[in-house]
Amino acid sequence: MVSPRPVVRSLPAYKPGRNPADLAREIGVERAVKLASNEVAFPPLPAVVQALAAAAAETNRYPDNGAVVLTRALADRYGVDPAQIATGCGAVTLCQELAQAYNDPGTSIAFAWRSFEMYPLLAQVAGARALQVPLVPGRPGGPADTHDLDGLLAAIDDSTRLVFVCNPNNPTGTAVRLGELQRFLDAVPEHALVVLDEAYREFVTDPDVPDGMELMRGRPNVAVLRTFSKAWGLAGLRVGYLVAEDPGVAEAVRKTHVPFSVSMLAQAAAVAALASEEEVRNRCAAVVAERERLTAALRDRGLDVGDSQANFVWLALGQEAAGLAAALEARAVITRPFPGEGVRVTVGTPEEDDVFLAALDEVRAASPVA
Ligand SMILES: *Cc1c(COP(=O)(O)O)cnc(C)c1O
Repeated sequence: MVSPRPVVRSLPAYKPGRNPADLAREIGVERAVKLASNEVAFPPLPAVVQALAAAAAETNRYPDNGAVVLTRALADRYGVDPAQIATGCGAVTLCQELAQAYNDPGTSIAFAWRSFEMYPLLAQVAGARALQVPLVPGRPGGPADTHDLDGLLAAIDDSTRLVFVCNPNNPTGTAVRLGELQRFLDAVPEHALVVLDEAYREFVTDPDVPDGMELMRGRPNVAVLRTFSKAWGLAGLRVGYLVAEDPGVAEAVRKTHVPFSVSMLAQAAAVAALASEEEVRNRCAAVVAERERLTAALRDRGLDVGDSQANFVWLALGQEAAGLAAALEARAVITRPFPGEGVRVTVGTPEEDDVFLAALDEVRAASPVA
């Protein structure tokens, strides 16, 4: 009998998130609200829809495996050389390619925990050790929701090849500030590549939260990971990118690239999205305004909610988390529970968020724990 590798056998089976249409049918309501995956609620940009229609006519051909046009557009946008860039089938694929490029069995990957769920899986599949450094409270008396960069630095050892710093952090929404991140990067040994995962960068409003693209300059062991899935509205198309100070890093990632995995449609859409930057900026401003309204509404209800720098908020409810998410789901609102820790709620449209708040009020009236 064939048998997968032991590490693969031990991985949890993929559990798909609730589909809002199915849930609505099951409960017998017109529609369910999905606030679980940090997508933006806006439809695709008009220029994206146009570019997709035009590209559709050429899909009998393979895509450009070097994503030359997209790479050039990104290089222009950030003022870097195209050789410093690697594109990927979503930022998650770039994470995998990074581990393939840098982690032999027995090496390690360091990151904060709780953070992006992909990081521990990467380490496991690569046969690398996961050096997980617990989050610490970001404010006095608050929940453990913030990177402990001193702890992360202390965890890095001779075996460490990759260090992920998710800024802002998924799922807690907290961000590390310029001074502490600079000190951290200055101290990380040069054999470890620090990957600043900035999937939510476009929603950052605190001017003291550094832009990784600037911080990376002059630091050959730093790279920045970004995606078109969140602010740019292309989650369904799968395209992200890595920008590294050292072109050798981008080259290593390109060498482990799954051939043609950034589709022709994804490339065309990403180029069109970049050309619509002002519209994207306006959309992000609307998301941020709604984030502040949602945060205030939750605080008005007596809930302890930190300041999010992303397009989601974090309810650090500990043992109440799973129960609350289940009760919300029974009221046609899909959130993302992390059992025993908290519930992550994506900032939706004002209407969607009002549906969420009303469901939350109902749940809490029925059982006033959360
Ligand atoms: C969503 C997300 C990504 C990337 O998503 P892709 O859709 O694969 O581009 C990367 N990092 C974090 C922290 C995310 O939340």
